[in-house]
Amino acid sequence: MKALVIGGAGYIGSHMVKTLQRAGHEVAVFDNFSTGHREAIEDVKIYEGDLQAAAEIDPVLSGYRPDLVLHFAARSLVAESMVDPALYHANNTCGVMTLLDGMRRHKLDRLVFSSTAAVYGFPQQRRIDESHPTAPINTYGWSKLFCESMISDYCRAYGLRAAVLRYFNASGADPSGTIGEAHEPETHLIPNVLRAAVGRADKVTVFGKDHDTRDGYCVRDYIHVNDLADAHLLAYDALNRADQPDFQLYNLGNGQGFSVIEVLRAAEAVVGRTIPMELADRRAGDPPVLVAGAGKARSILGWTPKIPELHRIIATAWRWHQEQRY
Ligand code: UDP
Repeated sequence: MKALVIGGAGYIGSHMVKTLQRAGHEVAVFDNFSTGHREAIEDVKIYEGDLQAAAEIDPVLSGYRPDLVLHFAARSLVAESMVDPALYHANNTCGVMTLLDGMRRHKLDRLVFSSTAAVYGFPQQRRIDESHPTAPINTYGWSKLFCESMISDYCRAYGLRAAVLRYFNASGADPSGTIGEAHEPETHLIPNVLRAAVGRADKVTVFGKDHDTRDGYCVRDYIHVNDLADAHLLAYDALNRADQPDFQLYNLGNGQGFSVIEVLRAAEAVVGRTIPMELADRRAGDPPVLVAGAGKARSILGWTPKIPELHRIIATAWRWHQEQRY
């Protein structure tokens, strides 16, 4: 199978590239390298370009002619999306439209799209399954929901078959230690905790202990990045199954929530030392609890996370953070 990974130099995209390579597939990456890292991808054909320009993505689609397009190239910071929404609509929303039109023009009909639990907004039930109403509370979530809606329309009207995967909290790193999470600025909890552990930051700031949760700290469902990547390959299989609809939607999470302080304590156990922390106010737009109901991915895709335990997820991230290569 020939795969084109759009945004393949980013955190999740680069793990996808590795997973595809290990499975023996032919892989090419399309990336504008705005936030991704060239060092994160090797032995792969690279097309440098911007998804917002049809003139840049079109020749890649027509020349490489992938069997499957996987789309990871998105802005994904909630706070940034609130102060600069244009960036999110241009990059995420319009980028997808350019891609869909290019795929349509060149008769490419298989897409796996990275979406997010942020489309659900404030959770109305303890575990969020795919039937939970979508009501984003930030521009990032809206930009992804607009994308989902366009993809669903193109499936209905133009013969596209697509799987939308709504990730909960992507985390960890490839167990090889060669690639991992490297955002600048870093806003995610586990890398920030490990940066403090390794001495690249003085301390980790914990946002709020007055949330409506069991211990007052925000609760999230952390899912290993390689388990996410595996789900994309299984989603491709499902796109080729006649008994599955043209437009498919799956939540991806472990179905277990951990509070910020539980993550901190688990990280301390992994690294074998105390990690300095300070308490700060809540971060705007943070829902108190986000935990997946991911039974659909398990039953239809046959997906079983291989690194579901929090301490193992953190251990893979720790290996990366100790010798961060980029
Ligand atoms: N968080 C924190 N300190 C940090 C980063 C995150 O306390 O340095 C909290 C954040 O408020 C949220 C949880 O950790 O409740 C997960 O945040 P992250 O940014 O990793 O993922 P999100 O759920 O926002 O996508």
